[in-house]
Amino acid sequence: MNRRYRKTIIAGNWKMNLTATETKKFAEELKKIMPRAKWCETVICVPACNITAAAKAFKDLRISIGAENVYFEPSGAFTGEISAPMLADLGVKYVIVGHSERRQYFCETDQTVNKKVHAVLNAGMNPIICVGESLEQRETGVTDSWIALQVKCALSGVAAERLRHCVIAYEPIWAIGTGKTATAEQAGEVCSNIRATIRGLYGARVARSVTIQYGGSMNPGNAAELLAQPDIDGGLIGGASLKPDQFLDIINAANQE
Ligand code: PEP
Repeated sequence: MNRRYRKTIIAGNWKMNLTATETKKFAEELKKIMPRAKWCETVICVPACNITAAAKAFKDLRISIGAENVYFEPSGAFTGEISAPMLADLGVKYVIVGHSERRQYFCETDQTVNKKVHAVLNAGMNPIICVGESLEQRETGVTDSWIALQVKCALSGVAAERLRHCVIAYEPIWAIGTGKTATAEQAGEVCSNIRATIRGLYGARVARSVTIQYGGSMNPGNAAELLAQPDIDGGLIGGASLKPDQFLDIINAANQE
């Protein structure tokens, strides 16, 4: 982490878990154990139907609410989809874009990811842009070029002054929900290459202002080591964000550095 130049952001990704009632219970549990002062920005990304409940439940804890997905058109005949202005109107601050589960199960492409990034920024919110390689890609040695391509595609056409609103989440696919974590060195190296890619596109001043998270089985046992890497500025956390005590331990690890 480098707090001098950029925000540290710990974000939970609840995926398709917890009802609105369970969201309220989670917040009550967290309230009992969470200290008021915290340095890092804390976000919880919830299913769209729970955004209003989450915004109410987490208000006192100063936890920002994130969405897990968005459609790129602002309105129209797209049954079942939710637009960026609709999310912004509910008080959503962050939107996960291009999570590997959406790429894998819902046919998201680098092109739709790019459209979503623009839609989120146009609505005044902050995209959390997920990139990551498969195990096969890592083993064939194409991780760096693959990640650089994903970053370039996601940011295509995004103006330099908007980069400080973008968060990049490096999530090796083989580490998501598997209990396998990239070593701190592996994760740190890819995150530093992501910053180098942004530097190549926008220059050093912009690159150092961008928050880059690591995601993939981050937990209370490995968070401190991962966050100690100079180019890892936070985490995107799935499983461990569903347990108030574990999520708080990760927030505390970010606050200690
Ligand atoms: C995720 O869903 O983005 C994630 C990193 O999940 P987990 O922490 O469970 O691996």
